[in-house]
Amino acid sequence: MVLLEIIPLSHLPWKRYQSCGSDLLTNGVWSPNPDTQAILTLAGIDLRNIFVKGTGGDTCLYKPDLHGTFSVKETHGNLRSKLSVCWWKKYIWRDSCYPRPSNLTWRIILNVVPTDQTIHSRSIQLVSQCRLCKSAVESTNHLFLVCPISQQLWRWLSTLFGLKIDN
Ligand SMILES: [Zn+2]
Repeated sequence: MVLLEIIPLSHLPWKRYQSCGSDLLTNGVWSPNPDTQAILTLAGIDLRNIFVKGTGGDTCLYKPDLHGTFSVKETHGNLRSKLSVCWWKKYIWRDSCYPRPSNLTWRIILNVVPTDQTIHSRSIQLVSQCRLCKSAVESTNHLFLVCPISQQLWRWLSTLFGLKIDN
């Protein structure tokens, strides 16, 4: 923000003042030069009433893109923390696969399928029982790998497609 915009005192020689916020601070303490202090006093601004957050120096967050232009998108990209690339996503999210099975596979891998065990882990108390075999707690691992009914299904699928599945 430019001081001229908030202090409408046209009789002052504004062109001499080129101060910005960083010029007013030294090691986190307000330290305006005498001219700036005079203007602030005329405008009724008391810097002692303005809290300074942090004591470090300014950091320039804007970096130009490859074409030399500045954009909010580029700055947001520089600020956000980037996670590692998920190398296996290309095997799940394919154009040849329907989105629904891809979504289920994605959720199984991330262990966010809303099974009883997942819900219980979020401090919601409930009685759990596998709806297929009725002999174990319903969890992602049990439903898709350990349950005798799902193992029968896997064996049937492996026979149907001629695949060998290790138990
Ligand atoms: Zn079961």
